[in-house]
Amino acid sequence: MSANLPSFFQLYQRLISIPSVSCLDPSWDTSNKPVIDQLAEWLESLGFSVEVKALLTSPGKYNLLARYQPHNERQGGLLLSGHTDTVPWDEGRWQFDPFKLTEKDNRWYGLGSADMKGFFAFVIEALKSVDINALKKPLTILATADEETTMAGARELNAFTAFKPDFAVIGEPTSMAPIKMHKGHLTNAVKVIGKSGHSSNPAAGVNAIDIIHEVIGELKTLRQHLQQRYQQPSFEVPYPTMNFGHIHGGDAANRICACCELHIDLRPLPGMDLAEFSGLIQQQLGGIQQRYPGAIEIIDMHPPIPGFACPDQSPWLQLAEALSGETAAAVNYCTEAPFVQQLGCDTIVMGPGSIAQAHQPNEFITLAEIDPAQQQIRELIRRVCE
Ligand SMILES: [Zn+2]
Repeated sequence: MSANLPSFFQLYQRLISIPSVSCLDPSWDTSNKPVIDQLAEWLESLGFSVEVKALLTSPGKYNLLARYQPHNERQGGLLLSGHTDTVPWDEGRWQFDPFKLTEKDNRWYGLGSADMKGFFAFVIEALKSVDINALKKPLTILATADEETTMAGARELNAFTAFKPDFAVIGEPTSMAPIKMHKGHLTNAVKVIGKSGHSSNPAAGVNAIDIIHEVIGELKTLRQHLQQRYQQPSFEVPYPTMNFGHIHGGDAANRICACCELHIDLRPLPGMDLAEFSGLIQQQLGGIQQRYPGAIEIIDMHPPIPGFACPDQSPWLQLAEALSGETAAAVNYCTEAPFVQQLGCDTIVMGPGSIAQAHQPNEFITLAEIDPAQQQIRELIRRVCE
């Protein structure tokens, strides 16, 4: 619609050229504000009304919501959602400038070309050929921050009022095939505090390694129970998993170990309530807690991410399958989908680029996938909003 928007390549190039790394290491972490400002400018020129919110939990980071609301219809319609941040880049392993969109061998290389700043270029390009004044249902674009670290942006969607689309697509790179579910993710530290003493007299202390041995026994019992009790055959590993990934404790063979810590990775199935899931762990360790009051502490090492599933009978999922010609699948990575779904909309993950390139040096998107992806995104908009 707007004559002033740059070409598709220029849109893409501009987004790739603005650094927006999110990283728990502050020396890498960058504000995403310049990307948000650029998107705001383009979307406003297309006729969207744009709201930008500073995140409360992550200083210097911003979410953007751009709405087109025909007849002031505030609710419903389609949400196209993506994250504006990228992971850091591996300096020695990139053959290209990560911040310059480089065309070579029928590919566009650049950091975020697949995961997933490029998605916004696709959306804006699609909108150039859609008469948004003719849309009958609201069309909303969401751009979040910090997906690659804490998902802080997706956790603060309630900052936007009257935000309830009917259908949502998260444009993570799936080669435009619909994704209908993924597991959740929790990382817990189980910390055991005992009491040190000389090794020659076991009664002089409380051995934290002895206690953690009991903890591991109980957790293995729980793991078995979870595997038998909960099943979702769409996943390659069809049950919730629990991995013991790291343990450290003690300082010398001749001292009673006073402190031992175990880190576990937990992947609940979609639909499992996270509080309930944590409750199962507490309950399983209840007997040990009673014998050693106050000795065991369980800490979330990052904010938990729930699982996500879009029901097979959802008309949205069926439309995505029909347009892509692909059966919706389950994946083993996490996205912002569970948080977006909490808005009350049917949600799928589907976007251009391959997940195989995400978080890799020389990240790229192939030229061959551009036109079909463009068409599919345009068709989604038309089918929901026209
Ligand atoms: Zn991503």
